[in-house]
Amino acid sequence: VKYVYDFSEGDKDMRDLLGGKGANLAEMTKLDLPVPPGFTITTDACRAYLEKGSVPEKLSVEVTKHLRGMEDLIGRRLGDSEDPLLVSVRSGAKFSMPGMMETVLNIGLNDESVLGLAKVADDERFAWDSYRRLIQMFGKTVMDIEGDGFEEALSAIKEERGVRFDYELTADDLKELVSTFKKIVKEETGREFPQDPREQMDQGIEAVFRSWNTERAKIYRRRERIPHTLGTAVNVQTMVFGNMGETSGTGVCFTRDPSTGHSGVYGDYLMNAQGEDVVAGIRNTEALATLGEHDEKSYKELLGIMRRLETHYKDMCDIEFTIERGKLWMLQTRVGKRTAAAAFRIATQLNDERLITQDEALGRVSGAQLTQLMFPQFDDEAEKVLLTRAMAASPGAAVGEIVFNNEEAEEAAAAGRPCILVRRETNPEDLPGMVAAEGVLTSRGGKTSHAAVVARGMGKTCVTGAEALTVDVNTHTIKVGDKVLKAGDTIAIDGTTGEVFVGDVPVVDSVVTTYLTRGLEEGLAAAKGDKDMIELVHSVDRLLTHADKVRRLDVRANADTPEDAARALGFGAQGIGLCRTEHMFLGSRRALIERVILSEEGTSDRQEAFDALEALQKDDFKKILKEMDGKPMTVRLIDPPLHEFLPDLTDLEVKVAVAKATDGKADEKDERMLEAVRRMHESNPMLGLRGVRLGIYLPGLFTLQIRALVDAAVELKKEGADPHPEIMVPLVGSVSELAHIRSEAEQIVAEKTNGYDLDVQIGAMIELPRAAITAETLAEEADFFSFGTNDLTQTVWGFSRDDVEGVFIPKYIEEQIFGVSPFETIDQHGVGRLVQEGVERARSTKPDIKLGVCGEHGGDPDSIRFFHQVGLDYVSCSPFRVPVARLEAGRSAV
Ligand code: ADP
Ligand code: MG
Ligand code: MG
Repeated sequence: VKYVYDFSEGDKDMRDLLGGKGANLAEMTKLDLPVPPGFTITTDACRAYLEKGSVPEKLSVEVTKHLRGMEDLIGRRLGDSEDPLLVSVRSGAKFSMPGMMETVLNIGLNDESVLGLAKVADDERFAWDSYRRLIQMFGKTVMDIEGDGFEEALSAIKEERGVRFDYELTADDLKELVSTFKKIVKEETGREFPQDPREQMDQGIEAVFRSWNTERAKIYRRRERIPHTLGTAVNVQTMVFGNMGETSGTGVCFTRDPSTGHSGVYGDYLMNAQGEDVVAGIRNTEALATLGEHDEKSYKELLGIMRRLETHYKDMCDIEFTIERGKLWMLQTRVGKRTAAAAFRIATQLNDERLITQDEALGRVSGAQLTQLMFPQFDDEAEKVLLTRAMAASPGAAVGEIVFNNEEAEEAAAAGRPCILVRRETNPEDLPGMVAAEGVLTSRGGKTSHAAVVARGMGKTCVTGAEALTVDVNTHTIKVGDKVLKAGDTIAIDGTTGEVFVGDVPVVDSVVTTYLTRGLEEGLAAAKGDKDMIELVHSVDRLLTHADKVRRLDVRANADTPEDAARALGFGAQGIGLCRTEHMFLGSRRALIERVILSEEGTSDRQEAFDALEALQKDDFKKILKEMDGKPMTVRLIDPPLHEFLPDLTDLEVKVAVAKATDGKADEKDERMLEAVRRMHESNPMLGLRGVRLGIYLPGLFTLQIRALVDAAVELKKEGADPHPEIMVPLVGSVSELAHIRSEAEQIVAEKTNGYDLDVQIGAMIELPRAAITAETLAEEADFFSFGTNDLTQTVWGFSRDDVEGVFIPKYIEEQIFGVSPFETIDQHGVGRLVQEGVERARSTKPDIKLGVCGEHGGDPDSIRFFHQVGLDYVSCSPFRVPVARLEAGRSAV
């Protein structure tokens, strides 16, 4: 295997091997853009290192070859004492993990080469600044020294000299700082800072490999569902310097605004600074446009390159650049991360500009992003107390108590108390707190700071750069003017406007939700003239309309009440795929169920209870059917074990025992109930008397439901409506079970629809492995199937969701045994295979049989793609997920 690629050897499609950063550096090199020369060590090498625990010898040899090539090209030697070549060692995995892993700049400097650099650059200050940065970054990332010591020493000398910014320190100050830093290294590690340039480079490379497995990198990958097996590539690149005085600088820019999606370039710039300074939020940056004032030539060149990159990648790009004494260098590009709103707007803009097709535009947005746009927003009308206004870094409306660190955030979240993480600035160590918090507020940094980038990636609300805000972690307070708030006080942050409020602020439907539920006109009205919002509503409308046009899957909703049904229709559902009837036996109706249980089969007592339930259910069904006029509605006959409707065994035992002890005897009805509850008690209710089994065991129960449904439909027919009821039998395992219920149902339908043209389809849920693998036989008795993938997952895996979800599944995910819970995304290899088999078998008997899925998976983007591929006709999900499912079904089809 080849472990090292020169930048001129790769391209953007080699991300698996070269990582995103390396592949794109190669692509820019291929495009002849000004990229400092370098090479990339592959992810293969990283995996080999992680496996063996040491650097493969072959790798060292290849690195030498490429390093020599680079030295010859530039005409300088790594760390040469007269005229040193310096390099950066940069991590870069296949999927970007902002700030998660390590990068070391200025490698090659030591006590001698720093003098050479000062001489050739004719700038002593710059050389020593670079050296102190090297020791600081190397100490932190390679030698595992806590960064605080370096920071404190830096602050201390600034204070001593009475200056505010790093760049105000003189060469002598920096020399002093270098010796302090070297002392820190010695004290903390017992070793000297390595003077040998090649050793620095090799240790840097190893540190990048190791950084793949730091705790924070693992947390990040788990969250983003990035496999732990990928490994990272390492880029070794010639240094260019933004810290060479006023004609130098460094910046980050985007070809469009990543938070709103505004067209037009966007970015942050820092004069006389090196790369990390921008992201770290150490100094507040200037807007990119100011670069045009300092250095028009570089600015124009940069704009030209930005446009070229966007045309080339056909997408919004983000870019890192550095200007060294008036010469522009490109250090990184990639398709940029963006907020949900920006994703929709940019996709339609690029389509308008004819850079991508409508299908491609649809591929650029996701259901997860649409979900974010549906989150509520602060009520404009509500009374609010403004604390301060800062940068809108990641949109959303978050309310919670103030917390200052990871521990407090995690504690609050675990106790179910929403919280806002407040910090001066964040760094990768703050990741657990950011995950736990509802939102993040910082007093420093811009829209490209660590907090902003990570929050946008996670879809968390974030406000940055609140300069008026003083964050004091020691006293656990924040202060604006004379207003002081402490840990535990409630604040509200608006990541769309950048506002920060004191106390709770009520939320209302987002503009996009208004559009989704009430149509384009009202959605536009809700935008209240805000141009960004109006463009966003149009974008969502266009892409969703296109999704509806191209998708093959129908989207239905799971709805049990008329209100849910109405909501589902508002969101664009084409029917109800699952109407659960359980709740129709709860509340005041429990008494009727108790009567059923306590009475003998065939007695008038039992029949009376059935009749009463039937009348009530007819009314329930009629209301929902009316709402769903003209659209199919699948009613699932009662599914859960009967004991769920009965009193709790222990409670009842206690009640009877207490009565006996005090009065000598218990209530006779209670005693009979206790006996019945004992009789019906099950050790494994999930696998017990439920679904079709209960329907057969307790004759009359399904009957009353079917009668109620058909009666309701016939009555509506008489009133001129257009009901389409479908009867679904749960937990079927054999065709005989289905046939048993079907013949009864057919009789009722025939008898009740007499003279009315009412089509009542009868089908089954496929939620047992046996049903799936005998689907060709079951199909003889079914007009449709709906895969109940919640139960199917339980029965295929042999575990019950309620018992495992909070217990061992989190552990399994932590240990990487599961990438994701099988209840969240369908397990394609196991459960999915049964679905696929069921589909094929069912169609072998009845090519036209209607096939759908209901349950959580019906609204999960990855699962929807799978259901599309195996050829289902529809998915059914909760009303709120219907728009997401429409969009994802569309994306699956293009
Ligand atoms: P990250 O992935 O965390 O952004 P990078 O590898 O991009 O880390 O590097 C961190 C910072 O250092 C960036 O601002 C980058 O532009 C800068 N940088 C990296 N390599 C060089 C180089 N060869 N010359 C100048 N600056 C560099
Ligand atoms: Mg970078
Ligand atoms: Mg089920």
